[in-house]
Amino acid sequence: MSHSNRSSRLDALLRSGRLSRRDLLRSAGSLGLLGFASSSGVLAQARPRFVADPFSLGVASGYPRADGFTLWTRLAPSPLQADGGIHRDEWVVVDWQVAEDERFERVVAEGRVRAVGELAHSVHVDVTGLRPDRIYHYRFLAGDAISRSGRSRTAPAAGASPRRLKFGFSSCQHYEQGWFNGYAGLLQDDPDLMVFLGDYIYESSWGDDLVRRHAGGESYTLEEYRVRHAQYKTDPHLQRAHAALPWLVTWDDHEVDNDPSAAESEHLDPRFLLRRAAAYQAYYEHMPLPRQMRPRTDGSMPIHTRVDFGSLASFFVLDNRQYRSSMACPDPFKGGGSTTAYLDECAELQDSSRSLLGSEQEQWLEAGMAASEARFNVIAQQTLFTPRDEGSEGRRRIWSDGWDGYPASQQRLLKALSRPGLSNPLLIGGDIHANVICNVQADPWAGSQVLAAEVCGTSMSSQGRPQERMDESKSKNPHFQWARSDRRGYVLVELGRNAEVALRSPQTVKQAQSPTETLARFVVEDGVRGIRGG
Ligand code: FE
Ligand code: CA
Repeated sequence: MSHSNRSSRLDALLRSGRLSRRDLLRSAGSLGLLGFASSSGVLAQARPRFVADPFSLGVASGYPRADGFTLWTRLAPSPLQADGGIHRDEWVVVDWQVAEDERFERVVAEGRVRAVGELAHSVHVDVTGLRPDRIYHYRFLAGDAISRSGRSRTAPAAGASPRRLKFGFSSCQHYEQGWFNGYAGLLQDDPDLMVFLGDYIYESSWGDDLVRRHAGGESYTLEEYRVRHAQYKTDPHLQRAHAALPWLVTWDDHEVDNDPSAAESEHLDPRFLLRRAAAYQAYYEHMPLPRQMRPRTDGSMPIHTRVDFGSLASFFVLDNRQYRSSMACPDPFKGGGSTTAYLDECAELQDSSRSLLGSEQEQWLEAGMAASEARFNVIAQQTLFTPRDEGSEGRRRIWSDGWDGYPASQQRLLKALSRPGLSNPLLIGGDIHANVICNVQADPWAGSQVLAAEVCGTSMSSQGRPQERMDESKSKNPHFQWARSDRRGYVLVELGRNAEVALRSPQTVKQAQSPTETLARFVVEDGVRGIRGG
């Protein structure tokens, strides 16, 4: 379909009044890039009847603000069907309610929105007008159906100094490789916030001792990514965790494909931007993301952000995939993607114009950290930040996909972390399917000054590499206080006077239920850079 053809169809829809300007903006990503096949019969369903529960994917909330948060659901009576069980030409009226009590007797905010096929009948509501630092309950209604109720909370007011904030974080949940039973432990811990740091879905199948299977093969199209996200969302542990507390999320590579850089895939697929736009849109459709993060017409989707909890904590949530420079010295057979490289064999690594975050995000982060007055500055990003060595015989070898593959970016963030006025910087990450605890230093082998604490958390379910290789890595990296790849789970952090860190882990993810235990504890002491055993 030609672009002008598409535009005139859009114009007709706009003129007919059946597609609002707001809907158009919200769905512009799919309309502009992915084609818009439907033209006739946009059917409203003022009082729809569903063949099955339209709220099969549950409910979620995210991004607490002092006066509200974002609510999410998606209507999908048949979650594993490409259209979710509602024809894409139909839109559905959805009511939402926020109450002070679990029985919805004291409703304090409510509204009505339209769920449209262009966004897979997902609903994103940025609730405002609530009171700071409060727990609220919410639910959705469509036709005769009422969703399960969810619980969320607002952030403390800007000037307030809350005494405590408890949050969990995790990453990497391959559906086939394990049950998401870590979330059962998380709910017992009852944190205020969950932070997910990437690989929320996996686009493809791999791994050993699989416990369940993806519906369909590798995802490429919008419909395939929708089915993948929907299947993950049918997991009962994950649904409960979304319904119980607000989340912050960022993505890594597998929300789209293995190891891309910005709009470049590891095999330099010329159509990769279209694939990425499809994956980004499906991600938006399934996450409690504020509406300002919706996909843009050029296939981009801005998700890096800052979230404050009074003067106690600021979370800088980063996106290290969307804006990064091409990877250095790629495997010539692939053309792009990651590799291991000896520092002395890859001159490109030293190019100071290369960036992992893109210069705009780097500057935003540096300015935010410089101005921050929070007691804890949590830098929530995808992977291990600290410089590390995987080489031998005195020659440093790095993995080009991570911060070590972008040393100029790493140096700039190290410099920003070295500002004396910055209070208690704490880096959290995921991606490597292992718990690694360390002090961040510009040159850890020379014993340079400790600048920050780092807690890289293990995967929720994705398998780790053999522990022997982790032990080898630990021997080359004396700054690793803890390096374990043999356990799955999440990290629990309690911010108060100090930051108390617990590595939480189910005994196994190969069974649907398994008790969670604490593997180790660490502490970040107020006013002391770094982390130590607790
Ligand atoms: Fe992963
Ligand atoms: Ca990853």
